[in-house]
Amino acid sequence: TSFAHFGFDEQLMHQIRKSEYTQPTPIQCQGVPIALSGRDMIGIAKTGSGKTAAFIWPMLVHIMDQKELEQGEGPIAVIVCPTRELCQQIHSECKRFGKVYGLRSVAVYGGGSMWEQAKALQEGAEIVVCTPGRLIDHVKKKATSLQRVTYLVFDEADRMFDMGFEYQVRSIASHVRPDRQTLLFSATFRKKIEKLARDILVDPIRVVQ
Ligand code: AMP
Repeated sequence: TSFAHFGFDEQLMHQIRKSEYTQPTPIQCQGVPIALSGRDMIGIAKTGSGKTAAFIWPMLVHIMDQKELEQGEGPIAVIVCPTRELCQQIHSECKRFGKVYGLRSVAVYGGGSMWEQAKALQEGAEIVVCTPGRLIDHVKKKATSLQRVTYLVFDEADRMFDMGFEYQVRSIASHVRPDRQTLLFSATFRKKIEKLARDILVDPIRVVQ
């Protein structure tokens, strides 16, 4: 598979070429077409596999389609991950690729300033990258709303469980409209993750790195 198979427009292709990626990674080859089709997906993949781009590129296509259908406030895509570092990394990839369409990303994570993050959320963004507890704090304080979210990603789900975020992960899933598209990434696929997938995904396709 080459990048041309994904059917991305020239703007996104240009940015991918600028990144000097020569070919899609295995998780991208398998995952991108599934995510573009609108289906829910479980990706078993580790850091370094290129999994971030595998959910970001289809996310941008989704947002651009959705933006035409639905006006309103709040993010269209939310990416939930375990740590501040990962949040910042994903956010920077969202900005790098999202800028070709003028899309805005905000990162909200524990340890950062509540006030600054709330201000950034209120200025508006189509994409929010977050750690679970902090997103819930902002929703409770009405700094943002999940009502417009139709693309929901849980990255490194097993690590979020190890860190004790299961309750928060489930709570976020239950507060996003049920007709959303959900993607779940995890390095391992243990029983608890399997159970989570059964509870929050609809008829998912499973991809192994
Ligand atoms: P990730 O597994 O998403 O953390 O990505 C690991 C690294 O691979 C990141 O620095 C990406 O920028 C890079 N990367 C993503 N996709 C590709 C690709 N198709 N070819 C080469 N590098 C890539």
